[in-house]
Formats: sequence, structure tokens, C-alpha cells
Amino acid sequence: MSRFDTIVVVDWSGGNDRGLTPKPDAIWGCVARSGVSKEPVYLRNRQVAEMWLHDLIEAELAAGRRVLAGFDFPFGYPAGMAEALTGASDPLALWDWFEARIEDAPKANNRFDLAGRINQNFGGQGPFWGNGLRRDVDGLPRNKARYSNPFADRRQAELQAPGAFTCWQMAGAGSVGSQVFMGLPVLARLRRAFAGRASAWPFETPDREIALVEVWPSLSVSKPPEGVIKDAYQVATLARVLSALPARELDEMLLVSAPEEGWILGLGYEHRLVDSAATRPELQPPPLRNDCFALPAGIDWTPVDQALGLLRTGLHPVVLQEDVPVMQAVGRVLAHDLMARRSNPPHRNTAVDGYGFAAGSVGEGPQVLPLMAGRSAAGKPFDGVVPEGRALRVLTGADLPAGVDTVVLDEDVTRGTGEIAFRGALRRGANTREAGEDVARGALVLSAGRILTPADLALAAAVGHGSLRVFARLRVAVISTGDELVEAGAAAEQGQIYDANRPMLLAMAARWGFTSVDLGRLPDNRAVLRDTLDQAAQQADVILTSGGASAGDEDHVSALMRESGALQEWRIALKPGRPLVLGLWQGVPVFGLPGNPVAALVCALVFARPAMGILSGEGWHDPVGYDLPANFEKRKKPGRREYLRARVRNGKVEVFRSEGSGRISGLSWAEGLVELEDGACHVQPGDPVRYIPFGSFGL
Ligand code: AMP
Ligand code: MG
Repeated sequence: MSRFDTIVVVDWSGGNDRGLTPKPDAIWGCVARSGVSKEPVYLRNRQVAEMWLHDLIEAELAAGRRVLAGFDFPFGYPAGMAEALTGASDPLALWDWFEARIEDAPKANNRFDLAGRINQNFGGQGPFWGNGLRRDVDGLPRNKARYSNPFADRRQAELQAPGAFTCWQMAGAGSVGSQVFMGLPVLARLRRAFAGRASAWPFETPDREIALVEVWPSLSVSKPPEGVIKDAYQVATLARVLSALPARELDEMLLVSAPEEGWILGLGYEHRLVDSAATRPELQPPPLRNDCFALPAGIDWTPVDQALGLLRTGLHPVVLQEDVPVMQAVGRVLAHDLMARRSNPPHRNTAVDGYGFAAGSVGEGPQVLPLMAGRSAAGKPFDGVVPEGRALRVLTGADLPAGVDTVVLDEDVTRGTGEIAFRGALRRGANTREAGEDVARGALVLSAGRILTPADLALAAAVGHGSLRVFARLRVAVISTGDELVEAGAAAEQGQIYDANRPMLLAMAARWGFTSVDLGRLPDNRAVLRDTLDQAAQQADVILTSGGASAGDEDHVSALMRESGALQEWRIALKPGRPLVLGLWQGVPVFGLPGNPVAALVCALVFARPAMGILSGEGWHDPVGYDLPANFEKRKKPGRREYLRARVRNGKVEVFRSEGSGRISGLSWAEGLVELEDGACHVQPGDPVRYIPFGSFGL
């Protein structure tokens, strides 16, 4: 299908003329093209609205443009209604049926009387209820006290759209019943006026010049800004978002089978209809606040928990969103709550290879059932009906054909010619799976912020998602500083050491699912450092430096940041740690880690990791620790928290033989950290201590 050039969205109303000045709860319409919407139009009554639509569509067609016109009321009723009223299950016959019976004028119409008359066909207690008139209407209950509905209360579409109202309610807050009565006749006339050029979706394929579609702005559009009329804001936003969609995405949304009840455009694709940064590239996530790393005044050594609390409240996601195929989504951060677009399993099916029949045809004791010809296999369902008292061959995963509700297992059956024998009774539903027994359509399956696992991808695929809206990967720049550093593997002179932090920090960022950006080793030179930070701010969302973070002569990271007014020096009551430099460089957060590899790793795990969780959209996660008996002794003074390199052997926690913060071998030896609380302590062998495996930090 080629794209629609013009999108029109209309917020309908079932009420009377609303007067000259624009008001809420009137009819509002808005036109958009290529991601730009015009001013919303106030339409005081349906007669005005119908003329506006007619003229607009005519003008668009004359200009050679295809039009998609969305209306916010159901295009059909729950299954069975069309047939009950018109004798045919064709919803478009129902449109004409209403068009022939509704009388509509700006100040009066017959909708409640018609609802009452319809109800009387069904005994006068339903399906419609709610009367907006002062006088009573024969057959139309005012409330649901003595109400009975021969049809389903909601369409499949409403079951999937949380908060959607039922079409049976004719009056009262939020009711849509009247809108349908007063809307279908207008649609029927538009369809007739543009006969052969308009398709009524989803009953007709939307491949003509005009598509009339059902929409529901509340599906995706959030609250209007202060002082803006909600209806006007919603039609404009939805029209703009729809008109900005790639044709391929709109086509995908239009691929729906709901031949009788109709469907809401975009249901199951809400995330693509959100007026987000991704649909408006000019809309970037807001910048971090300058004071996001500010410490409370007057505290000399900030306790770890307080420092973490400050990071947690000061930061927010800084990445855009993008759609990725399910196949490539592992490890990515889900940007929106994900709903099931399809039930799992979608249909009742058999859980085993065996024979299916109706439970009612089988009693106690030995049974013999004649076999039907054919079979139902996975992907190749049997499309006939299995009559009572007969059985059909069924294979695991096959849909149960009409007439079958129970399956007997192959192993429990003796097969004769044209018949099977087995022992009854069988519980109704034995060896079958109910449609939706795992996940019902519309259910929340995964929450925003979730880091997608392989199993999550199975779930997302099973409930109908081919692509997922995720946060763009956080880009993490890593810089090492120090005149003494040489590159791993290069020749080292006296006085030089290998840059050990950079491979470690780059690998950590990659393990966390971020994009690591290697900005190399820098000498202790402020100008070079400044240039590199400038470059990092262009290329990354977060900058990790190591070294030069103290207050010494050659500590240029802290000096430069102080000079540029970007510095927050955090003196955290933490060992190993010492000062941690935090700040914004051109709006990009910088974590200035200590140079000692042990301190660099601990500070990265304890501070940078959870902070980056927020920046990347996955949210704050405290690492999970376990209380296990110590296999060591340790005395500790009060006033700071300590992390020891540790691992678990035989159910007990061992710590590395030295606490020296330059001992890289201990980092590699360790499989986690022991966390000793801020107060004084004397750990003796057998005492419980808090052990946090590196895996809890995502390594
Ligand atoms: P600094 O924080 O720059 O004073 O460095 C503290 C200690 O860590 C010094 O002994 C440095 O040589 C060492 N160091 C700094 N950066 C690295 C690095 N990238 N790899 C290994 N050791 C480092
Ligand atoms: Mg240094």
C-alpha cells in the first residue's frame, strides 16, 4: 500500500450543538501531513462536522492526495449484534441500518428512543443502557440495576484497550454509545458520497484513496499542557504522529482481521504512536541539571548510602529510543511497557499426540470411538466439525477442531481399523491447552526498563511482537590519565606502567550492554585533557576517567574540572575509594575514578554502575548481596564503608590476602566483594558477612 498523504483525526460527539465559542466535549478535527499538524478545528455540531469532512476529503482527492480519516468511536458492535439487527453479520449493513433510522438535528435527535426500540427486540433490559433525557424512554434502563445483555459487553478491541468504554452505555461520563449512534450514519453517508474511492477499515482493505478508520487518542496521547482543550490537543497530536509514521509501520498497523467488530488503529502498537523523542527527532531528552552532582554543604565525608541517594534522585535517562527487531533485542533496555498483541496460546490446542473428541461422548470404563478421516496437525488445522461420539487424530500443538474439547494420549489408546479403544472417563479438557492460558491478549508482559533476556524475546515473539521499542545504547567514553602509562603490550621504560584500567573499564561498559568508546591514554596535561573531554562529550553520554582525581600537583582531572566550574569533588566515606570527581562536561556526566585499579573498579561498581542504570533507562538497581559465614578475621574502625575483594569456597567467604589497592592480582582472584557496614566491626570466622558477587553488579 502506498502512503497516505493526509491524516485527519476527529474527536466525535453524540451530544447537541455546543455553540459558537470553542468548547471541550464538542467535535474537534485536525489535519496533518508529513509530521506537521494544522490548527485543530472546532466543529460545533455534527452537521457542520459532516460538511467540513466532505469538503476536506473532496479537496484532498482533487489535489491527488490519499486521505486517512480517523474517528474516535467504535465502527462495529460486539459479535452478533449486526446480524441480530440486519439479518447479516456485515457491519457495513449496520451502518446503513442506523443511517436509515437516526434523525439528527443540531438541537435534537432520536438516539435514546432508537436505543429503547432496539432493546425492546431483546426483552427491554438491554443491550443498551443509560438515558440522557429527563423523560423515561420505553425499553431503555437508566442504569444497570435490571440490565441484561444478550451480547458480549466489550469487543475484542476494548478488551485489549485498558480504560476503553463499552459501546452499550448511551449516557453518563465517558460513554461512547451515543457517539456510535450518531457517528455511523455520517460514516455511511461519506462512504456513499465517495463510493468506490473510500474503504471502511478493517471491514474493507484500505487500498483506496480514502480510508475511514477507528482511532482512540487516549491509547497513546498523554495529558495536554495547561490551558489547552484536551480534545483539540489529542486530535492534533495523534494526527501529527500518524502522519509522521513510516508507511511500512502504518501498513503493519492496518493489517488486522476484525471483520465484524472492527478494531482500533494502533492497538498493540501504542509505543509507536507515542509523541516521543523518536517520532520528533528535534525533541531530545532534557539535559541533566547543573546541580545533579551537588553535595549537601557542611558534610566532610559523605556516607556511601547518602551519596548513592543523591545520584539516584539527581539523574534521569539521557538516551533516545529506537525500534529493533526482536532477533536483535537481547540485552537492550525496553523503553515502554509491552502488552500482548495476541494470546498465548492463540487457540485451544492439544498438548500431546493422540485423539480428540467431545468429553461428553465418553463415559466410564472401556470406550470405542469411530475415527474420522483426516487429522489436525500443528499449522495444519482440521477445518471440519467432529460430531459427538467420534474421534479425530490430533498431533501436539494442533488447534482443536470444532467439536473437540478433550484428547486421549496415544499411549493410552489401542488403534483398530477406523476406530480407537481406550479406558474412560477423561476429564473435559484433558491433555489440551486453553487459548490464553499462558498470556491473555492485552496483558502486560514486560515492563519498561527491563533488560531483555533471551526468554523475554521468546515471550515477546509469542505474543505477536516483531520489533521492540528500546532505549538507544548508552555510549560510555573511557579515558586513562597519567604520564607513567603505556599501552598494553608496548615496550615499557623504567618508571612506566601498563594502562590496566582502560581495558577493564571498557570491558565493564560492554558487559553492561553499553557502547564503549575508547578515548585512549592521556599524559598529565591539562590542554590535552580538555580537548579529549570536549571530544568525549560529542561522542558519548557518559565519561569515565581514571587517575588524576585527587588534589595533588599532577591531578589534572580534578584541577581542570575545578577550573571549568564543572567539579563536584566527592569525599566519600569509602575504602578503597578516596576522592571521586563528579561533574558535567558540556552537559555530559563525568565520573572521575581514582587511578588505583582496585579503587577504580570498586568506585565504578558501587557508584558509576547504578548511575549509568538510570542514564540508560533501565532504572536504579541495588546489587543483590548474600549473608554468608566469614572464613577470615578483620577489625575495622567506624566512619567509612569498606569493600574487600572476596570469593566463596565451601560455603564460606574468603578475602584476598592483601588490601593494597594496587594489587591487581587480587581483583582477578576475587569473584565478588564483601561489604562491611559504615560502623566499627570485628568480624570473626563464622560470623555472617555481606557478600556481593560480581554477577550482582552485572559483570
Ligand atoms: P592517580 O590517581 O593518578 O594518583 O593514580 C594512583 C595510582 O594508580 C598510581 O600509582 C598510578 O600509577 C596508578 N594508575 C593510574 N592510572 C592507572 C591505570 N590506567 N592503570 C594502572 N594503574 C594506574
Ligand atoms: Mg596520576
